Amino acid sequence: MQVIDLKTQINNLVVLQGIDTEIYDLRYEKESKPEQIKILESNFEEKKRSLAELEKKTLELQKQKKDKELELASKEEAIKKLQTQLYQLKTNKEYQAMLKEINDAKADVSIIEDKILEIMEQIDKVKIDINSEQERLKQEEQNLGNEKKKIQDRIKEIDDRLAQLETQRKQVVPNIDSKILSQYEKILSNRDGLAIVKVNNNSCQGCNMYVPPQVINLIKMYERIVTCEVCNRILYIEE
Ligand SMILES: [Zn+2]
Repeated sequence: MQVIDLKTQINNLVVLQGIDTEIYDLRYEKESKPEQIKILESNFEEKKRSLAELEKKTLELQKQKKDKELELASKEEAIKKLQTQLYQLKTNKEYQAMLKEINDAKADVSIIEDKILEIMEQIDKVKIDINSEQERLKQEEQNLGNEKKKIQDRIKEIDDRLAQLETQRKQVVPNIDSKILSQYEKILSNRDGLAIVKVNNNSCQGCNMYVPPQVINLIKMYERIVTCEVCNRILYIEE
């Protein structure tokens, strides 16, 4: 490898930092995507719950209706039986008593029939709710599909861009001394993707701490890599 002066290497590090900053940002964004999809899916599951509740309600109403129908049939059966017995009775008193029993049973039948009609009306109402809920869910499912597609497209975009950046990185890296590069990469991973920072108005742009003039002079000499005493990032001056 040819000898490259430190100033050029620092310039290369700055270029590399530009690439790495974008890589870090994109990776960070990509990492958040599966969680975003999970949230969308669980929101959709939540929306399905009210339909499930309506369906449960329908089943309950149908069971109530069935119970009432059985009750009705047994009442009607009882009335029939009483009516056949009615003509076998000997005294008027017995006859009147049974007639009253039959009429009471008939009144019960009519109450049960009303109740059945009421349940059927409720079932019809719930059916209407179910239909509109199904329509709404169809729309929601479509929205979910669209949102997921958008996220997956973005992931694909990120992957493509990351591949480009890796290629760019490979072009820059050979122009940096391997020792300096490994120092840079160590800081990069310890300092959340930011390893080399500008000194602006005597302050480190990585941690905002004061950089004394003698340190700035050291940077300008380009004899060795100078790091921030506080955040340990490599410092450079834009000239
Ligand atoms: Zn600093």
